[in-house]
Amino acid sequence: MLHSLASRIIFVGFIVSVNLICLSVLLLSASNSMISSFEWNAHRQKITEVVTETLSDLREAQAEERGYLLTTDPSFAKDFDDRVASALAKVNTLEQLVQDNPIQHERAQSLQVATNERLDTLIKQIALARQGRFDEARSRVIVGQGRVNMAIIAQKADEIRQTEQELLIAREATARAHATWNRNLVVGGCLIIVLLVNGLLYFVLNGMRRSVSQITRAMSDFGNGNRTVRVDARMGCTEFDILAHGYNTMAERLDAAMQAQEASDYKLLQANAELKRNNEAMELLGEMAHRLQAARTSSELSAIICAFVPRVLPGIPGALYTYNHTTNQLERIAHWGSHTPVGRDGLHPSSCWALRLGQSHSVNSPGGDVICQHVDSDICIYHCEPLFASGEVVGLLYLQSHVAEENRFRLVALVENIASALVNQNLQKDLLEQTIHDPLTGLYNRRYMEEALNAEIATASRNNTALSLIMADIDHFKRINDEFGHDAGDMVLRTFANEIQNSFRSNDIVCRFGGEEFLIITTYHPLNSLIQRVEELRLSLSRLELYYNGQALGKITMSFGVTTWDKSLPTETTAIIRKADAALYQAKKDGRDRIVVG
Ligand code: GH3
Ligand code: MG
Ligand code: MG
Repeated sequence: MLHSLASRIIFVGFIVSVNLICLSVLLLSASNSMISSFEWNAHRQKITEVVTETLSDLREAQAEERGYLLTTDPSFAKDFDDRVASALAKVNTLEQLVQDNPIQHERAQSLQVATNERLDTLIKQIALARQGRFDEARSRVIVGQGRVNMAIIAQKADEIRQTEQELLIAREATARAHATWNRNLVVGGCLIIVLLVNGLLYFVLNGMRRSVSQITRAMSDFGNGNRTVRVDARMGCTEFDILAHGYNTMAERLDAAMQAQEASDYKLLQANAELKRNNEAMELLGEMAHRLQAARTSSELSAIICAFVPRVLPGIPGALYTYNHTTNQLERIAHWGSHTPVGRDGLHPSSCWALRLGQSHSVNSPGGDVICQHVDSDICIYHCEPLFASGEVVGLLYLQSHVAEENRFRLVALVENIASALVNQNLQKDLLEQTIHDPLTGLYNRRYMEEALNAEIATASRNNTALSLIMADIDHFKRINDEFGHDAGDMVLRTFANEIQNSFRSNDIVCRFGGEEFLIITTYHPLNSLIQRVEELRLSLSRLELYYNGQALGKITMSFGVTTWDKSLPTETTAIIRKADAALYQAKKDGRDRIVVG
């Protein structure tokens, strides 16, 4: 009922007002009672006065009558008529005044009759005197009845006054009792009002204080970071219920806003961390690219990859393969992390789904996708990234782990860098190939031969190992050119070059010395075995049946000059070359198609 603060204040006001009205009514009633008491007292006083004045007028009239009768001087009775009239009027008034009290009224009537009788007697005696019949009048006075009547009148008047006096006393006692009661009532009423108002104010203010304290405590706790704090919205007062509900709504919204802010801060932090990581990765990739550009050999490139890739993609083991056009194989040039490759160092492009599909291939859960043939049998989660340049495969990046989404950016940049490094190295390789190889036969050229021979002489000199030189020259080659044309001559040069290359080991250096002359640097030993091998070559060359445009070129032979290096020779290349050349010259001189050891 008193749910709202306004209704409580109105209720307190109402109670105070009712109490004040009651108190006012009480005071009004007390004051009316006092006024009526005063009026009543005045009435009673008036009665007493009228009785006294009646008696006084009567005595005055009697005295004037006696004076006139004794002195016969009419001046003594000059006010007699006035006194009589006054006494009559007063006694009549008295009869009117005491009508509220039957006993007094009866007494007043009796006094009125006695007064009238006495006045009548005096009037008659004065009338006799005024007629000059003083003696007759005096004789009536002497009878003494007048004194008796006056005594009776005085007694009646005293009775009336006595009664009025008693009434006054009784009334005063009653009035005092009323006044005391009213005072107690007022004091008690005031006390009750004060207690009631204080009680109500305590009830209202205590309710307010509790509610305000609950809300302020909640707000303070919220401000101190406890965002879960809420207020019970049933506070027993409409205004505070609304305030609590408002606080709860505000807290909910603030909490939601702060949560959204925190989430966005967290995302920003994550984004910044990601940006920082990416920047670090970009710096690393930049450093790696810088080094890759300067790399000259596969082993240098491999070392750079092994140093940087684990830093760009931490915790992900893997390997890098480069595509070899000649073998149509992808050769592993580097591996890092815990990846220890088993099996072959190379893989065929068809064994990798990434290379076959031309896009990255990931298996992120066991059995989640088809496994490439080149992947070890115990691996079920991995990632293959093909490396392309100008639409052509240049390599394969194999990562033995799932590549998380946040690492995709690094992976893309890494792949681009490695692919361009591989292309760069392939170009370098091609360039190197061009500078050290003879374009017609594919053999090493003379320039490379001189460098290689220098190195081999130094090694042989240092290690005291065997080193031999074979100078070979096609016999009568000019004739082939002349008879079958220059292209036929080129064909013969390529065929002979291929035969010679295949006759020696991969670590022997076979080069085109110039024209139709070839030079072989070999560590093959002993010399007899070497001569045996050269002899086999000579024979196989002479048995070749070569055709050009359907025409048989006939038997083509080759002469060989073989020499070995020993410490007696100078370390300059020219000395041993000259020695081999001399042996060849001797072979030519001796009739060609033979071997001369010099
Ligand atoms: P010999 O048995 O004394 O060595 O006689 P030869 O004819 O082989 O020697 P010669 O030095 O007289 O002739 C070499 C020829 O080889 C001359 C030159 O035109 C030819 N020749 C040199 N380089 C090439 C080449 O690249 N292609 C072709 N087709 N011919 C070449
Ligand atoms: Mg020749
Ligand atoms: Mg020659």
